[in-house]
Amino acid sequence: MTRRSAGGTYRSAGGPALISLVLAWLLLIPAPALATAAQSVGTPAPPRFENSAVSATASAMASMAGGVSFSLTGTTPFPIRSASVRYHPVGQETVYAVPAALPVSAPDGSFSLSLVVDPRQDGLPPGLTLSHAWHLTLEDGTKWSSSVGRVDWIDDRFAWDVVRVNTVEVMIGAEDSSDRRDRIVAEVRRVLPEIERVIGSSATGPIRFWVYDAAADLAGTQTANTEPWIAASSYPGLGVTLAVIPPEATIEIGRLIPHELAHHVLHHAATSPFSAPPLWFDEGLAGWFQTTGTDQFPALVRAAAAEGTLPGVAALASSFPFAVSEANLAYAACWSVMTYVIETWGEAAIPRLAASFAADRTDDQAMLVALGIDQRTLDIQWRVWLGASGESSDASP
Ligand SMILES: [Zn+2]
Repeated sequence: MTRRSAGGTYRSAGGPALISLVLAWLLLIPAPALATAAQSVGTPAPPRFENSAVSATASAMASMAGGVSFSLTGTTPFPIRSASVRYHPVGQETVYAVPAALPVSAPDGSFSLSLVVDPRQDGLPPGLTLSHAWHLTLEDGTKWSSSVGRVDWIDDRFAWDVVRVNTVEVMIGAEDSSDRRDRIVAEVRRVLPEIERVIGSSATGPIRFWVYDAAADLAGTQTANTEPWIAASSYPGLGVTLAVIPPEATIEIGRLIPHELAHHVLHHAATSPFSAPPLWFDEGLAGWFQTTGTDQFPALVRAAAAEGTLPGVAALASSFPFAVSEANLAYAACWSVMTYVIETWGEAAIPRLAASFAADRTDDQAMLVALGIDQRTLDIQWRVWLGASGESSDASP
């Protein structure tokens, strides 16, 4: 149940576009600050064109029904040649730039611009604060930027209670029973320190954990082509999880809360700007923390091994199948690999693997450093342990 943040206009990290954006944001430093810096090294203060050509006020509103509406009204001494809004989740580097339709020029220079975006199209879930600014270019070439504003992109279709447990903000329906809320919060309190202890790391930023009553409610936060079987989506890079825990299905508490929180903590421990841990580790460890929902895994894995359909460790490294039964088997296989690793090397192997995967090594190099074997050897040893390649079939996990 991993969902990584989707691409945006400037997603291609490391390219010239990103560098120019960094510069663009630096230019938003207020003009007096720039002037002070220039004077301190004995250079004449630069002419202050910023924000002097245009006088305008920006605002933004967000709702799940209507997306995010940005508006800008003011006056300009020259017609506007181009206009755009740039926005990004606070704390994130990926910037989304969207051009706006140009306003009709008024004789007195007044103008009004508006733009509506749907963050879902950019793979941005509710639970984020978006930083935004307007950027204009006038006919005479003058560039102007509005001051930076912030707008909360939240799920306003329902009333929520927010319960804070350390870094986690649990969002539970305000109408939900107190018994349900207590069970959910108790599970967060129990499992978060356990996950942080085993992984040897803490989630640094806030984690917003939305608890929905029904899959249809969660579906409203997603784009239309989302897999229908999704019970939870985690965005560790954005600090957001969306999970479906129906009021009558308390068994889902022990399945989804440990699983999704493990994704967040592992993300902080095992992800670098250039690499992410293999899925068998990420999903396997998330499954290993579950207290429910794994009962059928040993039989699934044993049956697949007997039929020769058990996916290998290499196949489980980077992507999961879409079909429900195959995806189930993939989760079960990852859980089984992780169980084998922990039974063989102990829990101490977890922080070693996390640190090794975060060190921008290949998967094989990372595993050699952390476990002393490469991926292929892990696959062979895991299958021997399962009894798949030996006479014994009772060496079940
Ligand atoms: Zn998952």
